[in-house]
Amino acid sequence: MKLTILGSGSPEAYARRASSGYLLEVGKDVILFDCGGGVVDNLLRSGRKPSDITHLVFTHLHSDHMMDYAQLVHAAWDEGGAPLRVFGPAPIAAITRGYFGPDGVLAHDLRARTEFLPSQEVWKARGGTLPRPWPAPQVTEIEPGFQLSGDGWQLASCEVPHAQPHLMCLAFSLESGGRKFVYSGDAGPCDALDALMQGADLLLHWCYRLDGEPAHPMMAPLTPTPSEIAANARSAGVSRLLLTHFRVHMDTPDAHAAALAALHSGFGPDAAIAEDLQVFEV
Ligand SMILES: [Zn+2]
Repeated sequence: MKLTILGSGSPEAYARRASSGYLLEVGKDVILFDCGGGVVDNLLRSGRKPSDITHLVFTHLHSDHMMDYAQLVHAAWDEGGAPLRVFGPAPIAAITRGYFGPDGVLAHDLRARTEFLPSQEVWKARGGTLPRPWPAPQVTEIEPGFQLSGDGWQLASCEVPHAQPHLMCLAFSLESGGRKFVYSGDAGPCDALDALMQGADLLLHWCYRLDGEPAHPMMAPLTPTPSEIAANARSAGVSRLLLTHFRVHMDTPDAHAAALAALHSGFGPDAAIAEDLQVFEV
C-alpha cells in the first residue's frame, strides 16, 4: 500500500498544510480519506487527477475534512470520470444533494455547462457525448462498524469521540496483503480505537494539542497529546506512528522537537510528524 499525505493541517488557513486528506493506493484502487480545503490542489501536485480516485471515505463532516468535496466531484466529472463512490456518515447524502441536486448550489453552473449550446460544443470537442449527465456521486451513508472490500483490501471502522452528537465521527483500518493501515480521524482516546489500531503497520493519528498546552476540561479528554498518542500506539503494538492535523502554532522548531521527543520516548524511533506530499509505503 502507498500512502500520500495530501493534507496534514487543521481548519486554520495555512499555506504549509492543507486541511485533512490522505490518499491510499491499494491494488487498482485509489482511496481518498477525507477531502478538506487544499486537498485537490495537493492531489494534482502529487501527480494524480481527480478522476483517478475510486473511493472517497469521510471520517466525519467537519469542514476541514470535506471543504474540497464539491471541487473533487466537479473536477472528476469535468474529466469525464466515472461517478465517484462516496462513503461517509450522515448527512453526506443531503450535503451531496445540496451541491449537485436539481436545486443545489451548483445547479445553475451545471445547467449552463450541460445546456448552453457553446458549452455542449466544447464538451463534444473533448470527446463527450450528449446529453451530458450531471455529476452523480454514488453516496453510501455509513455507521460505526461499517466494512467494505475492494481490490485485495478490507476496510473496517469504529466510532471515536470528537464532535458527537452533532457529528458522527469514525476511524478506519484498511488491511491488504497482511499489512494494516489505521487512520484515527479526529479522535479522543477510546477502547474502540485502541482495538482498531492493534498491530497496525502504520498508524496515522491526529494531534491537535502539544504536551503541556492548556486545554478546557471538556476539550482535554478529546485531544490527546503526543505523549498520550505515543503510549496508546505502543500498547497497541503499532509499528510506525505518524502524527498529523497540525495547527499553525505547533509548527515551530521548538514545538516539533518537543513533540518528536515525546514520540520517541513514549513510542520508539519510528515516529514522525507528517508533512504535505510525503509518501509512505505501508
Ligand atoms: Zn479536523
